[in-house]
Amino acid sequence: MASGGRVDLDGGAVAPLTICMIGAGGFIGSHLCEKLMAETQHVVLAVDVYSDKIRHLVDPPPPHLAGRISFHRLNIKNDPRLEGLVKMADLTINLAAICTPADYNTRPLDTIYSNFIDALPVVKYCSENGKRLIHFSTCEVYGKTIGSFLPKDHPLRKEAEFYVLTEDESPCIFGPIVKQRWSYACAKQLIERLVFAEGAENGLDFTIVRPFNWIGPRMDFIPGVDGPSEGVPRVLACFSNNLLRREPLKLVDGGESQRTFVYIKDAIEAVLLMIENPARANGHIFNVGNPDNEVTVRELAEMMTEVYAKVSGEPPLEEPVIDVSAKEFYGEGYDDSDKRIPDMTLINKQLGWNPKTPLKDLLETTLTYQHKTYKEAVKTQMCLATAT
Ligand code: NAD
Ligand code: UDP
Repeated sequence: MASGGRVDLDGGAVAPLTICMIGAGGFIGSHLCEKLMAETQHVVLAVDVYSDKIRHLVDPPPPHLAGRISFHRLNIKNDPRLEGLVKMADLTINLAAICTPADYNTRPLDTIYSNFIDALPVVKYCSENGKRLIHFSTCEVYGKTIGSFLPKDHPLRKEAEFYVLTEDESPCIFGPIVKQRWSYACAKQLIERLVFAEGAENGLDFTIVRPFNWIGPRMDFIPGVDGPSEGVPRVLACFSNNLLRREPLKLVDGGESQRTFVYIKDAIEAVLLMIENPARANGHIFNVGNPDNEVTVRELAEMMTEVYAKVSGEPPLEEPVIDVSAKEFYGEGYDDSDKRIPDMTLINKQLGWNPKTPLKDLLETTLTYQHKTYKEAVKTQMCLATAT
């Protein structure tokens, strides 16, 4: 039976799948659950320790989704129910991870355990039971670009081969062990190697995803509102928090690092293609990003300031940004990726996927969401904080 009349890229009917989605309650998981529920007939076993971001889908599932999605509150570190869920599913997608840079140098043990040790049983259960695995890695496995080791004004820095990141060719270049920032990248690299080796030696059907800064609504948390007051989320939420509180955006080490940002809804299209086209996706590692949306972090701050003024109607501050050192902001052991341009050749060839949304448009949608969702709660929280 086809899944809601869906066909794959080769014209074949897509059979309905049961998908065990680990980390379904996170940013990417919540968007993937929504997409699968809205556009397919696949069944989702949603696994996470939190369900807030998918409450509208699982608590309880609305009548039209009865039997399509169920929530399993469990910690994959130590829960024997995990193996049963993997066995019940045709496909497992593992999104679970500690993946906020502020944790990499301050909680390196938790970071390594979460991204390597805790992922091991998932790989093992898939391999032993002949189940397909889509494992979420990161663009950070590339580390720094080759060009970053050249002098600042060296002409070779402008040559694509010195900075474009290609799945099966580019090296993984991390800093020294004392720069604990790389604990995450290193753990992700080792789990990638393990998944790849299970494919090579034991025939595991796998796909590895390397997200390049996927952003959009529901990413991370706003400190003091739906996350810890002292917590440091990823840059989209940090800058949103600053804008909501009318405080300057903090540029770490001058905001010179460059990133490419892709809209979460574009990226989810790529994941759905991987789910429904196993013959084209298995055995591959895919970059998923938008090379056309490159900015420095400083430019991102300027753009977000301008877009937020438009969507909120509040004029920007006279001094909208301030510089902070990495040590001050993240503590000892922080380091940074200089530039992240994904090579899109492979995903384009295998799955015909291309990102669509320009940065300005995705920031407008996202900041409209942030303003609507958080402005009142931030005001209340600020009043309470000054009253105590
Ligand atoms: P997220 O933090 O929003 O989601 C991760 C989810 O996993 C959370 O809901 C968390 O509760 C859950 N989880 C963590 N440990 C768990 C455990 N032991 N048991 C059960 N659940 C657990 O992060 P995200 O942005 O949705 O990222 C998902 C994946 O994609 C991660 O593997 C991350 O490394 C990778 N990634 C994301 C991006 C991005 O741009 N968002 C970039 C690079 C890599
Ligand atoms: N950054 C910043 N100010 C902030 C938060 C982050 O300048 O308030 C910088 C950070 O140093 C990095 C970039 O923004 O250069 C992206 O950080 P993010 O946490 O989103 O994750 P990364 O892309 O490094 O994985």
